[in-house]
Amino acid sequence: SKSKGRNTYQFYSADMNSKTLRYLEMENALRKSIQNQDFLLHFQPQVDLRTRAVIGFEALVRWRHPELGLVPPDEFIPLAEETGLILLLGDWVLESACRQARAWLDRHTTPLHVAVNLSSRQFWQGDLVDSIASGLTRSGLPAQHLELEITESMVMREADVAIGKMRELADMGVRLSIDDFGTGYSSLAALRQFPIHTLKIDKSFVREVTTNANDAAIAASIVALAHTMNLLVVAEGIEGEEQAAFLLGKGCEIGQGYLFGKPMPSHEAEVMLCGPQS
Ligand code: C2E
Ligand code: CA
Ligand code: CA
Ligand code: CA
Repeated sequence: SKSKGRNTYQFYSADMNSKTLRYLEMENALRKSIQNQDFLLHFQPQVDLRTRAVIGFEALVRWRHPELGLVPPDEFIPLAEETGLILLLGDWVLESACRQARAWLDRHTTPLHVAVNLSSRQFWQGDLVDSIASGLTRSGLPAQHLELEITESMVMREADVAIGKMRELADMGVRLSIDDFGTGYSSLAALRQFPIHTLKIDKSFVREVTTNANDAAIAASIVALAHTMNLLVVAEGIEGEEQAAFLLGKGCEIGQGYLFGKPMPSHEAEVMLCGPQS
């Protein structure tokens, strides 16, 4: 009825501020976009710092919003995480990234991996291992070509349980990497027990690595630590040749950053697999 309609309107205007409304709108739009698959993946190359050959890509999700255009993940991943929609979105990201890697492996001889970011909620969901396994099965990607990026804070919440989950994933043959390493609180004692393959030096240490003595020392220590533990090191956020040279000099094997390529659509990423044209 008419009066009910007005009551409803008053209820909203009185009890919900515009921020909450915008949040609800965003949540609805996100939900709709997940149904419509209005997302795409960009791929950022990871290169061998010595040869500059592309050895893999990190998959980074973008939301193709009907009105806003391409929305960067920092603006919707937290919302997706809070609402639980990340589980649906994460499955889509995982399967899409695996399918893309499968297609590249079919068309190119370059050995490569694709790195996929896991959110906390995804990591802690009960059937994480099943989700990963079915993404691999549906795409036909052998597990060793998939790397899962997790963060220290995700894992340290309950390190013992997390280590168990990580072991299951590692046993499947999937590679694990610790993203944003150095910004969290993992103890060395815990790190030693993680069945991981790679440490990613956070870009906040790379930014001023050639001008800030503390950042230089941190980056160098992470590389040394990783090597002691037989891990690979990826430095992220490399924008200039000086940073690349410094990190290579410290023994860092792999680089990622605008210097080598921004995150890009898959067809552009594929061109990089053909190697430098002579
Ligand atoms: P991240 O995992 O640390 O990803 C690296 C971010 O650094 C990306 O931002 C990338 O575009 C940016 N970046 C790469 N090279 C450079 C550089 O040389 N300089 C600078 N300043 N930045 C660089 P992006 O794509 O906006 O992603 C932001 C964050 O959103 C990611 O940070 C990740 O935490 C999250 N994210 C992205 N895709 C996904 C996803 O599929 N699932 C989940 N759960 N999170 C995602
Ligand atoms: Ca990442
Ligand atoms: Ca990172
Ligand atoms: Ca991050």
